Amino acid sequence: MNPISYNPYSSYNNYYPYPSYVDYGYAPQYQQPQQAQEENPAKTVGLVALLQAIAMALPKISNYFSAKLMAGKEYTSAENVEKVVDYMKKKNNLNVDVHFINEANKNNISRAYGLGNSLDVVAKGENAFYVDNLNLSQEAKNAGLKSKIAVAPSSKPSLIQHELGHGINATKKFTKLLQKSRRYSVYAPVALLLASKIMPQKENGQQNFIQRNAGILGFAAFLPTIIEEGLASFKGIKSAKEMLKKGLLKGPVKLNILKRNYAFALATYILAGIGLGVASKQTIIENS
Ligand SMILES: [Zn+2]
Repeated sequence: MNPISYNPYSSYNNYYPYPSYVDYGYAPQYQQPQQAQEENPAKTVGLVALLQAIAMALPKISNYFSAKLMAGKEYTSAENVEKVVDYMKKKNNLNVDVHFINEANKNNISRAYGLGNSLDVVAKGENAFYVDNLNLSQEAKNAGLKSKIAVAPSSKPSLIQHELGHGINATKKFTKLLQKSRRYSVYAPVALLLASKIMPQKENGQQNFIQRNAGILGFAAFLPTIIEEGLASFKGIKSAKEMLKKGLLKGPVKLNILKRNYAFALATYILAGIGLGVASKQTIIENS
């Protein structure tokens, strides 16, 4: 997913044409802000306008953090990152293919794994991702390619540690559950709307629990994703720290740069959660 520019793809849907393709990209995209309906009770007009303003501002703020992330320096050399990759794979028994993508190798790798054009943005240095269950062709299987793959740009190799963090999360029950919740979070606004319609309506026109708390409930639907993203980064940072402690990394290693870069990435996910909260509130208001 392209963390640099506003992109109308939903962050909560897979836009890759692979049925079982679960992609934990580096930063989410935004759902298109919903248009406020023209007719609203006078009471809610102010709130509607406010929500709309937030919905429109969120992608801009997110782009700011994405730009910061993309402008961030590498915390150490590519050689050191590769050592951390080996360490993460061995320590966690990860059966994952890892590739650093550039213009020269993107087509071959994409063809081999059947990744369509998803590596184009990676080659440009604008994305990184992990896929847990690729549908490999028989040819790819025969060639010994793995169905789990983590990719990062050659120009930004350190993003791979976060992606391998997703790989580790996928091996553990609880964090795997958090990962799975991501695909359902897009339905939060509609699910909340349905739930609030099913709830007994109050006679005096008062809002029910869901109507009152739609924003926070919508955000809560995205919270597992935010936590899982944070844990992926945490594991990437922790691994580098452990390697450093063991004296296995040569040359300058500036962990603060890594932490800063990952914090910018996490910020975009928090904003996406707020976006889902706003969308949920909007949906409830527009339908009441
Ligand atoms: Zn991620």
